[in-house]
Amino acid sequence: MNHATLAAEFVRNRPRAHWHDTALWFVRAKRDKAVHSLPEWETLRETASAIKLHTISHLAEYLEQFERQATALGATVHWACDAAEHNQIVLDILRQHGVKKLVKSKSMLTEECHLNPYLERHGIEVTDTDLGERIVQLDRKPPSHIVMPAIHMKKEEIGELFHKHLQSAAGATDPQYLAEVARQHLRHKFMEADAGLTGVNFAVAETGGFVVCTNEGNADLGVSLPKLHIACMGIEKLIPRAKDLGVFLRLLARSATGQPITAYSSHFHGPRLGGELHIVIVDNGRSQLLASGEFRGSLKCIRCGACMNTCPVYRRSGGHSYENTVPGPIGSILAPARDPQHYYSLPYACSLCGSCTDVCPVKIDIHHQLLTWRRELAVHGHLPWTKRFSMKLASIVLRTTWLYGLMGNMGRWALRNFPRWLVYNRLNAWGRQRELPPAPRRSFRQLYQEHYGRTTTAGTSPQPGGNSVGDSQSSTSRH
Ligand code: SF4
Repeated sequence: MNHATLAAEFVRNRPRAHWHDTALWFVRAKRDKAVHSLPEWETLRETASAIKLHTISHLAEYLEQFERQATALGATVHWACDAAEHNQIVLDILRQHGVKKLVKSKSMLTEECHLNPYLERHGIEVTDTDLGERIVQLDRKPPSHIVMPAIHMKKEEIGELFHKHLQSAAGATDPQYLAEVARQHLRHKFMEADAGLTGVNFAVAETGGFVVCTNEGNADLGVSLPKLHIACMGIEKLIPRAKDLGVFLRLLARSATGQPITAYSSHFHGPRLGGELHIVIVDNGRSQLLASGEFRGSLKCIRCGACMNTCPVYRRSGGHSYENTVPGPIGSILAPARDPQHYYSLPYACSLCGSCTDVCPVKIDIHHQLLTWRRELAVHGHLPWTKRFSMKLASIVLRTTWLYGLMGNMGRWALRNFPRWLVYNRLNAWGRQRELPPAPRRSFRQLYQEHYGRTTTAGTSPQPGGNSVGDSQSSTSRH
């Protein structure tokens, strides 16, 4: 299904769509407040962008340096070229240690690799310990946002879900009560776990250490009790030096939720005493992006979600309509790189307003890349035949002056004379939300010629003292 169809389903429930829009705008407004309190915000963005660009331009060297340093600290580093290899590596490690129960802190990479269902098929119980992640896991749905996975759900629905799965009181909707129920439930899961798995927000090539940011402390809890810690990271998570961390930690939380910093920024340098640390470094299509000059900038992304919170399309269409682990503007760049045929509609789920580019803390030119994707998809024949046919037709009409004139005449006549039901029907998607303006009797070309004389061609400057074309139009409409 394409984005427009799935979005239409979400929008059908108008109160929910409105509520979703408002909730995300609230987060965007918080981000603005936090950002405006830092006079050096633009300098931070410039610096972060430069660091990330430098890193991805020397990625091979930094990855090797990270592996050397992490190994020296006692970690075991694994390399996976795709999702299947990543899942196999994680399963092998878990099997070697006889793990039956795994607690996971939020990791979009493992979502992207569909690790949970894979491990469950192999008899391992996986518990997501981030509250939002646990909610969507109980609901058997994927996250709809990368920072707020359950933002599409209301507290009444969460109350029902907890009542069904966690035996909370029927009809309970008090967030504090529900949070306490989740806390008690997760406490047991932490106690029982044989291993902990985390994502990686930033891996430091210089030290071989890495940082995981959470607001609930669940990453720390998940890896503090069991002896086995597995950390999964995409190859783009690297930064060169420890001193670069401050730049990104200041940008990440402010952009994501408007906080000065996430509640827990946990640093890991090698395994805990008597434990084991395995780091799985995954490519899964990223080197393809790296190789493409036009889209490599998307690898700078630090997954803050700011582009989603500000996007007028995402806010009104919901994260699930993107059918991708990373939804919204940045997801619409990443998804077609992996499967252009399946995700062809995502770059079109964009109004090109540029708000995503304005808020992105690492200065990715998101809406420009989305525009480039549209060209790429069209050139490589990934658009459906209806779109290709209508574009071809439009190009013929726009290139042929007499045909363009004829179509204009016919269109204006039809709009003035056809009964309303013939103009506003199922086929007129544009007219579903808006009224067409009254059709004028004469075309712009006719008005122009009338005003400046038949010999004047379009593009000639108006005569001194003459009215502008805009004046001519408005005076025409006034009389
Ligand atoms: S593209 Fe930019 S704004 Fe969007 S998630 Fe990535 S870093 Fe954040």
